[in-house]
Amino acid sequence: MLTVYNSLSQTIEPFEPINPKRVTMYICGPTVYGDIHIGNARPVIFFDVVKRYLTYKGYDVLLVSNITDVDDKIIDKAKELKISEEEITKKYTDHWIEMSLRLNSGLPDLMPRATQYVSSMIEYIAELIDRGYAYVRPSGVYFRVSKVSDYGILSKQNMDELSQGVRIELESDKEDPRDFSIWKTTEDGLNFESPWGMGRPGWHTECAVMNHEIFGSEIDIHGGGSDLKFPHHENEIAQTNAHDHHHLAHYWMHVGRLDVNEVKMSKSLGNVTLVKDLIEMYDPLAFRLLTVNHHYRQPINYSDELMVQFSKEYDKIKRSLKKAFLTISLEQAFRMETDEAIMSSFDMWMDDDFNIPNVMTLVYDLIKMMNKEKDSSRLAVLYHSAHVILDILGIMPRYELTDDTLLLYRAWEQARHEKDYQRADQLREKLSERGWM
Ligand SMILES: [Zn+2]
Repeated sequence: MLTVYNSLSQTIEPFEPINPKRVTMYICGPTVYGDIHIGNARPVIFFDVVKRYLTYKGYDVLLVSNITDVDDKIIDKAKELKISEEEITKKYTDHWIEMSLRLNSGLPDLMPRATQYVSSMIEYIAELIDRGYAYVRPSGVYFRVSKVSDYGILSKQNMDELSQGVRIELESDKEDPRDFSIWKTTEDGLNFESPWGMGRPGWHTECAVMNHEIFGSEIDIHGGGSDLKFPHHENEIAQTNAHDHHHLAHYWMHVGRLDVNEVKMSKSLGNVTLVKDLIEMYDPLAFRLLTVNHHYRQPINYSDELMVQFSKEYDKIKRSLKKAFLTISLEQAFRMETDEAIMSSFDMWMDDDFNIPNVMTLVYDLIKMMNKEKDSSRLAVLYHSAHVILDILGIMPRYELTDDTLLLYRAWEQARHEKDYQRADQLREKLSERGWM
């Protein structure tokens, strides 16, 4: 049975979805004002693997991941580039999608944009005010944290710590420093008409409202990077408890950070690696291998050396798979059968809170077995098992071998057999041009 670490209970729990056949997932998506970097890509890759594995287990999965297309950072970027906010968000949403696909991550089933839900957000905020969970100030509308008894439940901070931890904002007109903005009064940039004047919704409210509108009830998995736990996810929980009278999600899953040489990746430090630059130099699937080879809750300490190492590892995996594919093709030995023992080990490690590092040990053993296997029908079973596993991890390379290339290969073997080295060299060159030598 699948077990997952629930950040809310801080324990590993059996995974039992609300509907036994369906799994609902919401993953906090990007604010679209810049190119996706490799730290942003980590949760995209991990939750794609989660969806693939749940689908393999027979669940019908609905994965929703939002696009935040209204934000101060977008406004600043639009001013800097002297183009409209719509152009900025369109450009970087398209870029996000393109890079996700290049990293072999399937797109979410739904990608709701915050701007499409503004009228629902205004209604939601009005209801929170009516019920005493929020109040209006000249600078906007604030959520009244003291009204929620279990505030801090996810980030495990108590009220006193929170009060001390919150920076005292001198200009603020909030009742309590912990209260958070759910509507910001402003006429700068993209803004909307509301009962509280022109302005725009707060980020924490966007996700709470999109969950409410799309799912209407508690979902199975809510996830994102570990840096979103507080305040973002805590504040989503507080609003849902106040407004919707049900929990937001049963399981909270958080993916560890990706640091660079033990330093947090940030623009100001100049240590950001963009996905588009990385994939100019390396196979995107080698980066994917690097991320999944680290347990998802552990931080990754990224460096160029580490990327080079995983690039070599992935080349080794690809070479073995390609060799096996060629042998099986030449002998027409393909089988759609997996090895029972291998697959049960795979399930066991995946069920253990997605222990993909141990799955990779299994994969390396499987590759060794394939390299040694002389019997093509047994090799075909091992190859198919590797195919199923690597497809779930999203790192299965694709091969195409035409009949024509196979004939060339056979002719090359024949020429060597007949010691016609001149012809063998010519054929070898042709095969090499096609990438099969
Ligand atoms: Zn969110």
